[in-house]
Amino acid sequence: MEDEELLSFEEIGIKSWLIRQCRGMGVNRPTLVQSKCIPAALKGCDVIGCSKTGSGKTLAFAIPILQALSEDPYGIFSLILTPTRELAVQISDQFRAVGKPLNLRDCVVVGGRDMVMQGKDPSKKPHIVIATPGRLADHLQSCDTFSLKKIKFLVLDEADRLVDGGFDGQLKTIFSSLPPTEQRQTFYYSATLSDSLQKIKELSVSKGREPFVWQSCGDDQKSDIATVKGLDQRYVLTPSDAKDAYLAQVVRQHYDSEDGEKDLTIIFTRTCKLCQLLAMTLTSLGYPSSALHSMMAQKERALSLAKFRSSQVKILVATDLASRGLDIPDVQLVLNHNVPHVTKDYIHRVGRTARAGNQGRAITIVTQYDIETL
Ligand code: AMP
Repeated sequence: MEDEELLSFEEIGIKSWLIRQCRGMGVNRPTLVQSKCIPAALKGCDVIGCSKTGSGKTLAFAIPILQALSEDPYGIFSLILTPTRELAVQISDQFRAVGKPLNLRDCVVVGGRDMVMQGKDPSKKPHIVIATPGRLADHLQSCDTFSLKKIKFLVLDEADRLVDGGFDGQLKTIFSSLPPTEQRQTFYYSATLSDSLQKIKELSVSKGREPFVWQSCGDDQKSDIATVKGLDQRYVLTPSDAKDAYLAQVVRQHYDSEDGEKDLTIIFTRTCKLCQLLAMTLTSLGYPSSALHSMMAQKERALSLAKFRSSQVKILVATDLASRGLDIPDVQLVLNHNVPHVTKDYIHRVGRTARAGNQGRAITIVTQYDIETL
């Protein structure tokens, strides 16, 4: 997936059952972030990993956790925190696939589901709990049916998003329910960590124990661009009043071309309302589209995403809710209905395509008011 000469899973100390399991999923060699971070994790270090979108960060933390779990299986062994419900489900799928030979028990704790029913799941002692901070903090405050005091691993996935302020209260509650830092390993991963690195270092990691830091997302000399090579990035300059018409024309051109009809497209919008409107407009123009935003009920969110993942609808119109982490290999086109004001958001949005070494295209609609931001 990346140019540098890569080691094999054997060379980085992965057990044969895990290697077999990975090969069964088409994962034959570690990616760069995996070959750098997994050995440090296996040595017992805390890890801060910054690597481009789609470069295999999930397995970079899942593999060492599963290897350690296989040596001493108990529950609750590990807690994974991630900012969105959709990502929590996706991470759980990867753990289940790789951890199958262990009869892995995992539990997803996210908002939008029945709280009482969900409260019983962690008390069944799953090996892995994957949670969004809000719902987990609610559970910890309202019931004492499970304990996180014995976890061996804590992961903050999309770590910069989690520590950038919005989740501070919930993280405080969660951290106070964990064992002290020296009794667990902590892994932080994201494609855009640099601004939050200091905060993470302070928050993190065991006192007096230097974390292993790996950065390959634009801050080092080897890669001065935070997006991947296989990504073709373009923009369309339009008058502000006509941007919807231009966007519809881009969609039409793409889907009416011979190569484009099978492609999956994600269109990012600024607000929930615009997201809903645009999905309806494109559907009425003959391009069936699903919406994904935070004003939808969780069931509708899951259904929308499932339809898109299975190619029943080829177009997903989403807010930034879907900009991080979602791994849908068939997405060939990302369309930005607006220019995001924060560079990080752009990097995450366009990172929904050109994943795992594949090609992809990102097109941003730019109006006269966006030129400066661009
Ligand atoms: P992630 O960055 O974790 O979302 O992973 C992006 C995609 O890369 C997922 O579909 C993974 O299954 C895939 N992937 C992860 N590790 C490897 C690997 N070593 N070789 C090939 N594909 C991988």
